[in-house]
Amino acid sequence: MICLYVHIPFCRERCPYCDFFLVTKAGFVERFFEALAVETASKASLFAGQSIKAIHFGGGTPSLVSPSFIAAWLSQVSGLAEISAETEITLEANPEDLSPASLDALQAVGVNRLSIGVQSFSDRKLKALGRAHSSADAVRTVSEAFERFPSVSIDLMCGAEGETAAEWESDLRAAFGLRPQHISVYMLTLEEKTRLWRDVRKGLRDLPGEEAQAAMYRMAAELLCEAEYRHYEISNFALEGHHSRYNLASWMREPYLGFGPAAHSFLVSGETETRFSNASSLTKYLADPAGAVDFREALTDEQRFDEEVFLSLRIRRSLSVGFLRKGHKLGHQHLDAVLDTLQEKGWIAVESGEVTLTEAGFLFADLVASELLSD
Ligand code: SF4
Repeated sequence: MICLYVHIPFCRERCPYCDFFLVTKAGFVERFFEALAVETASKASLFAGQSIKAIHFGGGTPSLVSPSFIAAWLSQVSGLAEISAETEITLEANPEDLSPASLDALQAVGVNRLSIGVQSFSDRKLKALGRAHSSADAVRTVSEAFERFPSVSIDLMCGAEGETAAEWESDLRAAFGLRPQHISVYMLTLEEKTRLWRDVRKGLRDLPGEEAQAAMYRMAAELLCEAEYRHYEISNFALEGHHSRYNLASWMREPYLGFGPAAHSFLVSGETETRFSNASSLTKYLADPAGAVDFREALTDEQRFDEEVFLSLRIRRSLSVGFLRKGHKLGHQHLDAVLDTLQEKGWIAVESGEVTLTEAGFLFADLVASELLSD
C-alpha cells in the first residue's frame, strides 16, 4: 500500500500569512500537467502494481484547475496501480472556486473527500486574514459539498488580527454546527518574509499574543471533543472513521510518493528508508520534471528514532519506555528524570511502561519531543 501526494502550486494571489511554495501564474497550468504526466511515468516503478491507500491533491489551490486535468492524471495512475473504492481521494479547495457544477465535476472524476479552506465564518475575520471568500460562500460550499462527498473537512484558523475569544467560539460553534466529518484547526503563525510578517514588524498590524492563541487552541479542543470529534492529531479532529487516511499514513511513517514542485516523498525498501523532495521551483520542474530533485537522503538509525518519537507524539501513539531508553542520548537516569518532570507538568502519562501525550500535552508536543530526544 502506498499514498500519493500531488502539489498543485497555483493560487489566485498569495494570502498575507502564507509561505507555501506556489505561483500566481495560472497560464502555466497546462504545462504543469504535461510535466506531471512525465514525472509520473518516470516514477512508475516506485508504485506500479501497488494498491493505493490515499491520493491527496494539495497546494496551492487545486480547486483552481479544471477537474479534467485531475481526471487525466487519475486515469494515468489507474493504468499503473490499483485505485479502488477504498482509496481516499482528497482535494483541497477554496470556497470562492466552487460552484455546484464544479463540485459535480470533481465528484465525477472520483474525488471522495473535499478539504475546504473555510478559515472562518466571520466576514470581519476573513477580511483580516486577506481571504477572498465570505462567510456565506463558506456555508453554501460546505452544504453543497455534503450533498456530493462522503467526507468533508474544513480548515479553521485562530489568531487573526483583532480576534477575540467570543469571535473564535462563534467560529467553532458555526463549524461543528454544520457537522463536517473532519475539522482542522490551525493557529496563525508569523512566517518570515511573508507580507503579514513585514506588517507586524513595521507595527502596522498587531496579532493576539501567544497566551491568547493557546487559550483559543484549548477552547477548540474542549468544544470539539464535547461535540464528539476525536482529537487524533495536534491540529486535527474527526468524527468516528473520518480521519485523513493520507495524513495519518504520513505521521505513521508509511510510504508516500510526492509529485510536483516542492513535493516530498518517503519510501521504504527492506531496511532502507529514504526521504527526498522535488525542487521548489516551477521553472526547474517544467524544464526537467523527472530530475528536479532538491535533496535525497537515506535515514540513519538516529534520524529514524527521532522521527518515530516526534511523529508518534503528534498522533498520541504510545512509545514504550524501553524503546526510548535505546535512543535517548543522555542515559537512563536522565530519561527517567525527564519522564518524571513531564508527568508532573501533566503533559504525558506513563502506564505499564508506555508513554503517551495527554490532551494538555498536545500544545507542547514539540517541547516534549525535544526533551525525550534530548536535542
Ligand atoms: S489559498 Fe492557501 S495556499 Fe494559496 S496563498 Fe492562500 S493560504 Fe496559501
